Amino acid sequence: MNKQNCYQSTRSAQITASAPEAILQGIAPDGGLYTMRSYADIGFDWQAVLNLDFNAMAARILAALLPDFSVEEMLALTERAYHGKFETPDLTPSVPVGEETVLELFRGPTSAFKDVALSMLPYLMRVSAEKCGCRDEILILTATSGDTGKAAMEGFCDVPGTRIIVFYPEEGVSLVQKTQMATQPGKNVKVCAVRGNFDDAQTGVKQAFQAIQQKHLLEGRSIRLSSANSINIGRLAPQVVYYFTAYQAMVRSGKITMGETLDFAVPTGNFGDILAGFIARELGLPVHRLICASNANNVLTDFLRTGCYDRRRPFHLTASPSMDILVSSNLERLLYLLSGDAQLVSRLMAQLSDQGCYQAPPELLTKMQRVFWAGYCDDEATKQTIGQVWREHHYLCDTHTAVAWNVAQQYKAAVPDHRPLVVLSTASPYKFPEAVLEALKAEQQGDGFAAIRQLQGVTGVPVPRNLCGLDTLPVRHRDVIDTEQMQNYIMEKAVEQPWNP
Ligand SMILES: *Cc1c(COP(=O)(O)O)cnc(C)c1O
Repeated sequence: MNKQNCYQSTRSAQITASAPEAILQGIAPDGGLYTMRSYADIGFDWQAVLNLDFNAMAARILAALLPDFSVEEMLALTERAYHGKFETPDLTPSVPVGEETVLELFRGPTSAFKDVALSMLPYLMRVSAEKCGCRDEILILTATSGDTGKAAMEGFCDVPGTRIIVFYPEEGVSLVQKTQMATQPGKNVKVCAVRGNFDDAQTGVKQAFQAIQQKHLLEGRSIRLSSANSINIGRLAPQVVYYFTAYQAMVRSGKITMGETLDFAVPTGNFGDILAGFIARELGLPVHRLICASNANNVLTDFLRTGCYDRRRPFHLTASPSMDILVSSNLERLLYLLSGDAQLVSRLMAQLSDQGCYQAPPELLTKMQRVFWAGYCDDEATKQTIGQVWREHHYLCDTHTAVAWNVAQQYKAAVPDHRPLVVLSTASPYKFPEAVLEALKAEQQGDGFAAIRQLQGVTGVPVPRNLCGLDTLPVRHRDVIDTEQMQNYIMEKAVEQPWNP
């Protein structure tokens, strides 16, 4: 395989890039997402990495996915990115809970699973810039449904040569998430609330990004736009690693023998997390099924069951806000990887944008259904699940994890040939303390911060360090704008120097 063009747009085989170029650009010039033609063709020695410790395993997997980086180079980067930042030495511990295993992805610096990828992305970006001979400052634009924003700012905070602007839906994130973002220190970070929902914010960023590129609005200013959303392949690649560590833990605990297959239940929003599982499977990891769990915004459930993707439906604000998404960007990569047909993907994405819906061809649907199973549950069932898991197993899970747990049980009831199951846990219960308290039938007193203290009182589960005392930090970011103002806001801030002296 030629390293120079091992990545291409999901919408055109003619638009190619090396891995560092793809990381630096974030999104392809035609609006498609960068992907390899096939991850299975790498011929990855998946069994060999299962004997390694975390850093060595991560370095091998990342060097395979991003071929311009050597294993030694990746080893140095993973050590710098992760060392001392997570609560536990094995970044993402696997915890037995009843019959299932919970893969805890939230032990990072902001108690969000996105820390795994966003601790690594700034390092991948800096080295990518060096490899591409780029001396421009990198300006990261990111839309967040809550957790990405904080994790991205934490990752990029004061990294030389980078600045980051985070947009979040004003009414779409929890008080704790909002406070985490509004109090973010760092000379190179900006946070701005947008009047609208997450899809509005994400679409706004995408459109502003493309408009600024196409009209060359930043020409001559030595600023290069990029993204930290999971559309960036540098964001996606680090997530592939924890499917391997989970598998390793299942073998070591004796729940499976080497080579046996596992099922993974994934609380899904933008389809990045679960797509990383698909890539792990393409690399050879014995994954039987990936269970796509949604909340009341169940557009993916319908799609994976019928092949009809239809975003023309009411948007629900739920107790699992990081999954309140009607357009799951990374699904586009799956469509490409299973069809190998960029023209088809391009056509379907144009239909989604023009008509709000598309129908996957029957062969593609069959291929998807061989690997994916989909289900959803509403807020009522989510809260019941939190209460039940707490009573039966004394394990406290957040609302997103509860959705995955609930759908995993639906799957087990519906599919007799299920395998040992890993439920991905994507947030600390303390990020959504009001909903979790309600699920435990404890009456909440006061705001979200009081709820954190109260939840600890009721359960005795320790509060993560980064969430203690959050309400006493100074607020540093107060901007609020309409979606139509996003492009101007970005242009204004791009040329403003310095930001936070
Ligand atoms: C981002 C997020 C998800 C969804 O992950 P995707 O990769 O967007 O599918 C689920 N749960 C939590 C807590 C998240 O922050």
